[in-house]
Amino acid sequence: MTTQDPVFNIIAAEEKRQSEGLELIPSENYVSENVLQAMGSVLTNKYSEGYPGRRYYGGNEHVDQIENLAIERAKQLFHADHANVQPHSGANANEAVYFAWCQPGDTILAMSLPAGGHLTHGSPVTRSAKIYNFVGYGVTEDGDIDYDEMERLAREHHPRIILVGYSAFMKLPDFDRVKKIADEVGQETGEEILLMADMAHVAGLIAGGVHPNPLEHGFHVMTSTTHKTLRGPRGGIILTMGKVGNPLRKPEHTLENIPTLVDRAVFPGTQGGPLEHIIAAKAVAFEEDLQPEFREYAAAIVENARVLAAELQRLGFTLQGNGTENHLILVNVKDSFGIDGKFYETALDQVGLTLNANALPTDKGGAFRPSGVRLGTPAATTRGLRTEEMLKLAGWMRRVLDICVAAGEEAGLDAHEPELAAIRAEVKQLALNFPIPGIKA
Ligand SMILES: *Cc1c(COP(=O)(O)O)cnc(C)c1O
Repeated sequence: MTTQDPVFNIIAAEEKRQSEGLELIPSENYVSENVLQAMGSVLTNKYSEGYPGRRYYGGNEHVDQIENLAIERAKQLFHADHANVQPHSGANANEAVYFAWCQPGDTILAMSLPAGGHLTHGSPVTRSAKIYNFVGYGVTEDGDIDYDEMERLAREHHPRIILVGYSAFMKLPDFDRVKKIADEVGQETGEEILLMADMAHVAGLIAGGVHPNPLEHGFHVMTSTTHKTLRGPRGGIILTMGKVGNPLRKPEHTLENIPTLVDRAVFPGTQGGPLEHIIAAKAVAFEEDLQPEFREYAAAIVENARVLAAELQRLGFTLQGNGTENHLILVNVKDSFGIDGKFYETALDQVGLTLNANALPTDKGGAFRPSGVRLGTPAATTRGLRTEEMLKLAGWMRRVLDICVAAGEEAGLDAHEPELAAIRAEVKQLALNFPIPGIKA
């Protein structure tokens, strides 16, 4: 019997961990039971290389319907001309866009990793960075994109792509300003610049109407994950503006043809057979995201983040960017209290509050000894936590911090186990009052 396989015991243990703790990692969320059901379906048995109506294998009449539904819903959600729902992840989606538009050696201008950018935007450890020439722009002291620097670097380096995207940035980007830079520099050089937005973190806020949509501000491409604020299965998506053509025929290399160039870059360019069980789950999630309740959810994410940020500041924490305009909060624990981000992360983990240590734009040691922790409200908001619970959360964070300060990193937390256990019990009690979809209490 498969149910005897220890794998299922481990899954049960993970269900317990998720239920008893509070998830503050801003890139995580909880999917609905319908999304879970679609993912666990027999669609995983099917090969369907190609696109709807143009498959390399037979027997795809149902798969075609499912993928078309996912595409249509995604287009509606983001007001896009076209959607490719096949990328296996956010990283794959980004690589496919670079591959669709750039030649090896071409320059891509993106937010640098220390400023809040993502690994896939040119970190030297990635394959993309070995192929393309990434140039990084930073953030200003008050935590906004340094648009002047972006403009200066664009004039100097003539990028083929200007990329706006991040995983630790708390402001709403000025997409119009970026478009103006691209238009001006493109005019000077006579080369079209692709405007790409990687909205992996904030796509759900865009869908929910509480964040600007880059595709409505002249951007040609938007990539995203589907498992963060969109609350779908683990995966990626690429939305494009332009003329949709036959992906089996090579189109001219123009911005207008971006939808077709991207389709060809996903398959056969960088991936094989699509994960149609995941695409079905994406379709289910997109339909959920189109509902009025999802707009309420998106607004609640931002409101929760605002309340949590303000309370943390009231309790003495210094926040990067002095607060947040989205779902993300970056706490400078080093400056506030002389505590290392990693040490604080470990202590919070012990009380059932999960988040991650994160470098700050000003960190010299980079990701090795980060001075901050990054947290966010999407998962907690899905569970139903609101203002009252946000205030409690901030209070626990302050108590854990005081324990860290009292203990000191050298001595460690062992002597403070009873205090941590007391907080852990409070966290667990609250968490169990907010069940997770698909997990039986
Ligand atoms: C999470 C994230 C990704 C990568 O997504 P994966 O699915 O983990 O590959 C890419 N870009 C940004 C901005 C992200 O936040």
